[in-house]
Amino acid sequence: MSDGPAQAVCTAQDGRVMSEKKKILLHTCCAPCAAGSYERLRELGYEITFLYSNSNIYPRAEHDIRLENIRKLADALGIELLCDTYDHDSWLKRVQGLENEPEKGGRCAVCFEFNLGRAAFFAERHGIEKFTTTLTVSPHKESQKIFDAGRRFPRYIEFDFKKKGGSARSSMLCREFGLYRQSYCGCEFSLRDMERRRNR
Ligand code: SF4
Repeated sequence: MSDGPAQAVCTAQDGRVMSEKKKILLHTCCAPCAAGSYERLRELGYEITFLYSNSNIYPRAEHDIRLENIRKLADALGIELLCDTYDHDSWLKRVQGLENEPEKGGRCAVCFEFNLGRAAFFAERHGIEKFTTTLTVSPHKESQKIFDAGRRFPRYIEFDFKKKGGSARSSMLCREFGLYRQSYCGCEFSLRDMERRRNR
């Protein structure tokens, strides 16, 4: 689904024409990416709710540090934050057999689908018409793969947040807000690969 106008026109009981902001659920992978994506959606007139649903992240302590920083950002911006349960075992079952795939490969496609499926569930449960994800901010992720995963769910809307200097803007906002920035994508396999690269 492509982007549409973020303002819906409606008529009040006294006949005044009013515009109503459209709501969007923003699946957030981490605080730096959320900062840049939030800014773009706000410029487009959306009323944003953050969702933290990232059972791919390992270890649990890393998941919690990223959550703590999303909370810090949500508090600073005055945004509602929804949190999903951490269920790394279910995520591991979904990517079974793909452990040795390189980053940007088949494991990542399944990972995107897992997290966006959770976002679709939350959007429906909370009656939010649309959802999208901050995952497209990263220059290390192919936006097309994220779009392909998102299109499996009816409320998904595509935004390529890395465009128009989005990745650089996220880095700048990360420094401005004093947010934690991780050194690997998230799962134990990306952690393993990052350590291998460091030890070469
Ligand atoms: S490298 Fe990142 S996107 Fe790929 S499976 Fe691991 S956490 Fe998910």
